[in-house]
Amino acid sequence: MSDAVFVYSPALARFELSPDHPFKPERARLTFEMCSDRGLLTGDGVRVDEFIEEEEGVLERWHTAEYISLLERAESGSEIDVEMLHHGLGTAENPVFKGVYTYSKLAATASVLAARAVAAGGSAFNPCGGFHHAHRDRASGFCYVNDAVIAILELRRMGLRVAYVDIDAHHGDGVQEAFYDDPDVLAISVHESGRTLFPWGGFEKESGAGSAKGYNINVPLEPETDDNVFMFLFSEIVMDALGLFQPEVVVGTFGTDTFATDPLTHLKMTNNGYIDAVAMLRSRFPRIAALGGGGYNIENTVRSWTLLFAELAGREIEGGYGGALGGVLLGDPSIVGSDLRDMHVYTTGKAHDEIRERSEALIEWYRGEIRPILA
Ligand SMILES: [Zn+2]
Repeated sequence: MSDAVFVYSPALARFELSPDHPFKPERARLTFEMCSDRGLLTGDGVRVDEFIEEEEGVLERWHTAEYISLLERAESGSEIDVEMLHHGLGTAENPVFKGVYTYSKLAATASVLAARAVAAGGSAFNPCGGFHHAHRDRASGFCYVNDAVIAILELRRMGLRVAYVDIDAHHGDGVQEAFYDDPDVLAISVHESGRTLFPWGGFEKESGAGSAKGYNINVPLEPETDDNVFMFLFSEIVMDALGLFQPEVVVGTFGTDTFATDPLTHLKMTNNGYIDAVAMLRSRFPRIAALGGGGYNIENTVRSWTLLFAELAGREIEGGYGGALGGVLLGDPSIVGSDLRDMHVYTTGKAHDEIRERSEALIEWYRGEIRPILA
């Protein structure tokens, strides 16, 4: 049986972008600890890849020399200049902090290690990755370097057929950009519509260029989209496209900022739809390099990533629904023996009907415009 590998760097989890920054690398440590408490990191079929040092040359695989040298100059955390700002470094969303260069190299290394574990036949999870907004020469949206692109390139270098599946609430624009004219990588992003959320793009018409037309699939979601509509689109578009493309391995950005509890977005999912989607994906394509991504309700993110690792490892988690207490929206992990799953939340009434209608139109569009190219 192949291993599910938890890729973990304690050094990486200790960084802080700024005290009040919503992106918290410590989520990786908390997830590691919860997985450990739940017995998910020991026994048959699981392995922890703990590492301390970054791999040299890892950023050079994708980023420009100029941008890497700026990151290196930002390492002290005390210097910001106009050139850095021009490349997105030193802004409120991407502050310059002590160790930013080391942090970037460690994050990219973690995803390369995850890619190698998947190349060897298993699945892997790097909770401090999925930095899908980073551009080749510019930081963006809390992302300094694009570890997802670097992981895909690592797998391509080994001759594997790769699909990228991004279910973070934000459009995976940096990954789209990297493979937009490459028909050898199928890139799919399911995200809140660019009409209402950063990075303000990711519309279905952005579907790849030249010979890669059809190999970049965007599935924009309306605000208030719940688990039901998400699963409908995931099975009808994402799973269908993957079935036609037949990847050997999947790189996934599995952010949890699609949840109703997330403070930065407008979707209404729970970790039920999230895990059901991952389970559906794994049932057909078990070799998954899972990268963390966003998730700004820390507590909900940590529970959901624990469920994610359990799913990758094929382990059941014992217990009932803690959230079944009257009026409580979410499962309470402090209740001994309670499940890690959320209570179900559904969008109803007129909003539901409109979202459902829009989803059906999107599926029609996929079947008319994209599917014939992939088939
Ligand atoms: Zn996000």
